[in-house]
Amino acid sequence: MKVLVPVKRVIDANVKVRVKADQTGVELTNVKMAMNPFCEIAVEEAVRMKEAGTATEVIVVSAGAQQAQETIRTGLAMGADRGILILSEASLEPLAVAKLLKAVVEKESADMVLMGKQAIDGDNNQTGQMLAALLGWPQGTFVSKIEKADGGLKVTREVDGGLENVALKLPAVVTVDLRLNQPRYASLPNIMKAKKKQIDTMTPEDLGVDASPRLTVLKVVEPPARKAGVKVADVAELIDKLKNEAKVI
Ligand code: AMP
Repeated sequence: MKVLVPVKRVIDANVKVRVKADQTGVELTNVKMAMNPFCEIAVEEAVRMKEAGTATEVIVVSAGAQQAQETIRTGLAMGADRGILILSEASLEPLAVAKLLKAVVEKESADMVLMGKQAIDGDNNQTGQMLAALLGWPQGTFVSKIEKADGGLKVTREVDGGLENVALKLPAVVTVDLRLNQPRYASLPNIMKAKKKQIDTMTPEDLGVDASPRLTVLKVVEPPARKAGVKVADVAELIDKLKNEAKVI
């Protein structure tokens, strides 16, 4: 089974994000970038499937600027076999990414796409669902467990009310949640080995996809600063403040 893992380069989860002075977006200059944490979980799972003999090849693919190659190398150092960079300097919306991924899936004849449920920069949570719809494939989203079942997969989804088990026929799209696994750190020898692994570069034009944006960002602003809390002496004072100051009860 050939598994494709789309990975996105985002601002490192530990960095405090700042809005640009002109309010057109967030500051990216000299900011530490990393692989989206949910994509790391997807790579880890794909590599485990390879180690277990369920997957035959794991391909990491990223769409973005040239630097997205670093993110692909991280996936290769974790154990993926090869990478694909879809080079685009323009900002890519989920629908454009889904169309690009569809083209790669078809080009590679992949049997499964294992991806993050969400990228922590745009928090869109759209790409996997759109990709499944474009391909006409079944989808398992917010997945915290994956098992190989007869002719397909059995996945456990994290839903509001608890856990839901779903049987999927292959080929399928699976988007992963936080509790699926704990991604490994790449060892130094594997980082060195990853430098020699193949990364093919292509453009949206090569894939026959119009990736131009359809949305316009009007303005990006910081969330309002939270007011400092106050300590209350007793329950009576708390009730009084909730009633008369916050007016929530
Ligand atoms: P989103 O729908 O933007 O929240 O992203 C969900 C998932 O789609 C991510 O975790 C990635 O697996 C994939 N994805 C989104 N954008 C890209 C991109 N530019 N390149 C590769 N994969 C992406």
